Amino acid sequence: MQFKNIIAQSGVKAKIIQAAQADRIPHAMMFIGAEGAGSLALALATAQYINCDNPGDTDSCGTCGSCQKNTRMIHPDVHYTYPVIRLKPSPSPSLSYDFIEDWRREVQLNPYLSINDWLQSIKAENKQGNITADECREIIKRINMMPYEGKYKVQIIWLAEYLKGEGNILLKSLEEPPSNTIFILVVEQPDLILNTILSRTQIVRINALEDEDIIQGLTANHEVDEKNATNIARIAEGNWNIALSLSHGETSDLAAEFSNWMRMCSAQTKPTGESSAKLVEWIDDFSKVGRENQKMMFKYGLIFLRECLAIKATGSTQKISGDEMKLATAMAGRLSAEQIENIVLLITNAHYHIERNAHPKILLMSNTLKIAQAIMGEYVPTEPEV
Ligand SMILES: [Zn+2]
Repeated sequence: MQFKNIIAQSGVKAKIIQAAQADRIPHAMMFIGAEGAGSLALALATAQYINCDNPGDTDSCGTCGSCQKNTRMIHPDVHYTYPVIRLKPSPSPSLSYDFIEDWRREVQLNPYLSINDWLQSIKAENKQGNITADECREIIKRINMMPYEGKYKVQIIWLAEYLKGEGNILLKSLEEPPSNTIFILVVEQPDLILNTILSRTQIVRINALEDEDIIQGLTANHEVDEKNATNIARIAEGNWNIALSLSHGETSDLAAEFSNWMRMCSAQTKPTGESSAKLVEWIDDFSKVGRENQKMMFKYGLIFLRECLAIKATGSTQKISGDEMKLATAMAGRLSAEQIENIVLLITNAHYHIERNAHPKILLMSNTLKIAQAIMGEYVPTEPEV
């Protein structure tokens, strides 16, 4: 991975390169950034840069033997730890390396991947990923071997929050790693990281991408026109992973699809044979568009409802116009803030469950009926569903 292939983040890139050129790369860094900001991509580019045979002022050379091995993620001195699931029926503990082929494939395909993308790719289904105590002991073993060919031995820990309490096993190594060993911990939720670990690393904050960065990235390299890219940027909210998956789908239809769904929810407040048949037909169709597209519509819905709440609170919003504005104004007029918030809760739940492989037909039907209840002011959120 080269820095030039990473969207924006010029400040962080410059800082890393400067430190590397001055031979002052901290031995333990924590890249903290929200999903889709590019923290893992930056960690990979850093590993490649510091082991490059001909590093330039802005990037690794991309062509030396070390760069080529880094590109293919087979450099013998660059190690990856990431959450995995327990392999069955193997009695031995699951280590990151057990999934290295999947890891190389998925990360090369998309270094902005989310934990859910990753877990689904290794067929975790509803299992949570984990970085085990055994993996920590493997890390210690690895970093205590001499580097094979690189200047530095690099240990990247993707989503170090999954270490949980096991992180304590690494404290001594993080504090005093063997010479020429660099830890890069990539973290999305720093509040889940033990203080003892936080205090032993140099924090590097990775900002979420600006809308302009996403628009630029999409129009320059992904054949998306300006108008569509602007729409995508608004929904992606700084997350390049979401922007990419939206760019593969039919985003222009998201607004239409969502308002169609809201109309059907509304019709279910006084269901007729005809409206129910239409709903069943729509659910049938929409359950076939794929999980990513379903998630995107829910995500769009959450952003749309936030605008409804803004209209309720302030009487206007700058962020939407046209048909979206008409629907948002109508919903803001008809529903109380509490009712809108209940719908937000229901759609958040739908997103959560579809991500975890819930059956889309059942989920859509039950959500539609609950949203109809919410529209009638009869929905009472009982269980803390997420
Ligand atoms: Zn190179």
